[in-house]
Amino acid sequence: MEKFDVIVIGGGPGGYVAAIRAAQLKLKTAIIDKRESLGGTCLNVGCIPSKALLDSSEQYEAVQKSLSAHGILVEKYHLDLKKLMERKENVVREVTQGIDFLMKKNKIARYTGVAHLKGFHEVEITPRTGEKETIYGQNIVIATGSVPMSLPFLPFDGERIISSDEALSLQKVPSSMIIIGAGVIGVELGSVWRRLGAKVTLVEVLDRLFPSCDRQIADLALRLYQKQGLEFYLEHRVVSGEKTKDGVKLKIQGKSGEEKELAGEIVLVAVGRKPYTEGLGAQELGIIVAANGKIQVNDRYQTNIPHIYAIGDVIEGPMLAHKAEDEGIAVAEIIAGQKGHVNYEAIPYIVYTHPEVAWVGRGEEELQRQGIAYQVGRSFFKANGRAKAMNEMEGMVKLISEKKSDRLLGAFVVGPRASELIAELALAFEFYASAEDIARSVHAHPTLAEVIRDAAQAVGNWAIHQ
Ligand code: NAD
Repeated sequence: MEKFDVIVIGGGPGGYVAAIRAAQLKLKTAIIDKRESLGGTCLNVGCIPSKALLDSSEQYEAVQKSLSAHGILVEKYHLDLKKLMERKENVVREVTQGIDFLMKKNKIARYTGVAHLKGFHEVEITPRTGEKETIYGQNIVIATGSVPMSLPFLPFDGERIISSDEALSLQKVPSSMIIIGAGVIGVELGSVWRRLGAKVTLVEVLDRLFPSCDRQIADLALRLYQKQGLEFYLEHRVVSGEKTKDGVKLKIQGKSGEEKELAGEIVLVAVGRKPYTEGLGAQELGIIVAANGKIQVNDRYQTNIPHIYAIGDVIEGPMLAHKAEDEGIAVAEIIAGQKGHVNYEAIPYIVYTHPEVAWVGRGEEELQRQGIAYQVGRSFFKANGRAKAMNEMEGMVKLISEKKSDRLLGAFVVGPRASELIAELALAFEFYASAEDIARSVHAHPTLAEVIRDAAQAVGNWAIHQ
């Protein structure tokens, strides 16, 4: 039986990063994934293909709506959905091949098949075809990720009632799409298909978007999405659904009991994801799994079997690729005897709509609930020269710092390139920066990042440009 210092089960952003870091630290490492291509949900059916579609559909909308403002008049255009999808598939192929290269470069043994914990150190691999194989791991890292949750009365059929997996590969633009759940997937994929021509309606049980974001910012994003043509039913739940000849009919119910019927060609169920441990044999081995399906770990990512670790979507915390990646680095360092660590206070959240929404830290409502005194600074992209030059003036930055110390507690951006701008703020959190630290850092002119500096100055009531 081949023996390894570390076996990583799952080749997504958590798993493949853990494997690379372990190999860098001179641990003999194996990685197992049931997919032929590594990268997990994120690279194959998540972050990367959705960003490819978001970018393509943004360009398509720009041709129709915003290029003319730049004096560029496009008289003839049409959508080639087949080509758009092929481009997305090429992007996915290239990034997943990049992971293959990294595995080879770091001399990580690669196994393709379903992994099953056969013993405390033995992992059995069942490939799609061919013989089973068992390998031995001194340490084992479970990084099996998550899968879309379904609704009991509306099971996925892959055609009319779909998950994000299929919504990334539709062969035709549906005339209408109903999305259950206005979370990150709902608004991102809803934006893609609206831009490509579908009428998109979102049904959301909460009275707001993005519960971990500051309310003012989430409400601003909602208004911008509505202006773009996304239709929302907030505080509504779906009570029943049935397939019809040409689509799906849903009955939805508002909070005071009023009912309404919605009909759509396709229903995308985007009500969250659940940890994936099917076939793994974790519970049979005695690993403690919580009622919500998450594997329980301590602050060193150890399960109750100390040499078996778990990271990423399969444990508590936000289901984000970059959270999993950082846990991958930390767990490999811990196994190698170092002090791996993730700063959960400094994890950025990003919604890749247009404009983008990004944040790190806590919003006003949460700080009020926690009884923390704070101060706020706001600034707007419409007062920024670069944003004007780009004709991208929608949105704002909001920074919140602790009243007593001025330490940053929350940072929120709705606006152009928010996904890139948030990196400065995540770094500020990592360094326990104050708003004044940002306010007094030179920001190049003209850049969108100046809006962040403006907001930091506004915290101290001396915003120069606002
Ligand atoms: P989510 O948790 O972001 O959103 C699900 C939404 O569905 C919530 O707003 C919830 O209130 C609502 N909901 C739940 N049950 C409902 C019901 N029965 N009827 C109506 N609404 C209901 O989950 P998601 O959008 O499915 O995404 C899954 C995971 O993947 C999330 O953890 C998300 O963070 C992650 N993800 C992240 C990104 C990103 O970072 N840009 C992109 C896609 C997915």
